[in-house]
Amino acid sequence: MFDKILIANRGEIALRVLRACKELGIATVAVHSTADANAMHVRLADESVCIGPPPAKDSYLNVPALLAACEITGADAVHPGYGFLSENARFAEILADHNLHFIGPKAEHIRLMGDKIEAKKTAKRLGIPVVPGSDGGIGPGDDAMAIAKKIGFPVLVKAAAGGGGRGMKVAQTEADLQLALSTASNEAKAAFGDGSVYLEKYLTKPRHIEIQILGDGRGGAIHLGERDCSLQRRHQKVWEEGPSPILNAAARAKIGETCAKAMREMQYLGVGTIEFLYEDGEFYFIEMNTRIQVEHPVTEMITGIDLVIEQIRVAAGGDLPCAQEDIVINGHAIECRVNAENPVSFRPSPGKILQYHPPGGLGVRIDSAVYQGYVIPPYYDSLVGKLIVHGKTRGECLMRLRRALDEMVVDGVETTLPLFRGLVREPSIIDGDYHIHWLEHYLAAGDAKTSS
Ligand code: ADP
Repeated sequence: MFDKILIANRGEIALRVLRACKELGIATVAVHSTADANAMHVRLADESVCIGPPPAKDSYLNVPALLAACEITGADAVHPGYGFLSENARFAEILADHNLHFIGPKAEHIRLMGDKIEAKKTAKRLGIPVVPGSDGGIGPGDDAMAIAKKIGFPVLVKAAAGGGGRGMKVAQTEADLQLALSTASNEAKAAFGDGSVYLEKYLTKPRHIEIQILGDGRGGAIHLGERDCSLQRRHQKVWEEGPSPILNAAARAKIGETCAKAMREMQYLGVGTIEFLYEDGEFYFIEMNTRIQVEHPVTEMITGIDLVIEQIRVAAGGDLPCAQEDIVINGHAIECRVNAENPVSFRPSPGKILQYHPPGGLGVRIDSAVYQGYVIPPYYDSLVGKLIVHGKTRGECLMRLRRALDEMVVDGVETTLPLFRGLVREPSIIDGDYHIHWLEHYLAAGDAKTSS
């Protein structure tokens, strides 16, 4: 096992990793920008190192500074959290060159899955169902129109290097295709330095369902059921729950086993998420994330397995926590991502938290790094915290979530709490009857209750 882990991240995920390290008896090193000197992860870590000024490129993405911090503190492994360097294959290689362990998958797998075209090809080869589309990138010599017609309109233009919903454009009809191709490509070039795009069938009312997997890197892998992340705004997840309200045990076991089998064949190491769109009883692979995800607590609440602890264990050469047949899905969990944003315009609202009261009670979990008097800096994401609620049934979970949301107080900054208070009372949400465009329609119709 590792002796000392450097956590190359900030906010709630840095704290989440720190908690896992403490339970495992591993010493911790926090790193921080000058904007985060008073952050909770810095206060709770055994040691901390300032790695640069506020902009992420000069601090949390500053590889030489991170290496120096490892050197100074004698850390033997690095946990990247999510975002920042978590899916950077080169970073994993650089750490290995310096005799440091990267807590994550093998660099070759990060690279493979980081390229969405290659990822799709790999998924197909491993027997995972994919969205119909162009088999590779659209090059200058390709007849994009012919390919699009073959797929059938509407089609979605997606960036090979995409992420966070950027570089994605819908062409409803033939007339829209050229513009969609050029805007997606330009957006991708600006955001990722790579303008290559590909085409996919645009599914009109799918759900987003993802499978959590864990591999030991030696051909052992298990799946831990699914999360339904269909409630999205601008392709960003807002509310995640598990199990999916529309999947039965047989369907879950079938797609889960398909994913676990693929991971065994790849000899995948660590945690990962295989994301699908689900429509009319069919799963369609869209991408794989080779890191711990924001919504991982949903799975933890329904399986009782600490994913970060297991991620650290397998990275250190340990075994999987149990066999597939020992994974039992217990009850229901829902996560709300509470952001410091205006609940109507979604404009970020950084600033000082004047009052903070997290809800409590049975089945209520808060993953957050804020506190009363904390100043949310304007430089990073606007997550205040994640409220995760567990219940024996989905009904009990919703009942408890309603209560917890009403109890939670975050004053001084605007938050998306009013949005969730409305959602949890919406008939479609209560019935589990929603798809990936549902939230946008709800917001556009002005149905969002933002009074409290
Ligand atoms: P990113 O890496 O940018 O997050 P994804 O491929 O994971 O991109 O897709 C993000 C979201 O975009 C999905 O959850 C879904 O809402 C939407 N999406 C992606 N592919 C399709 C598709 N073929 N049809 C309809 N919606 C899609």
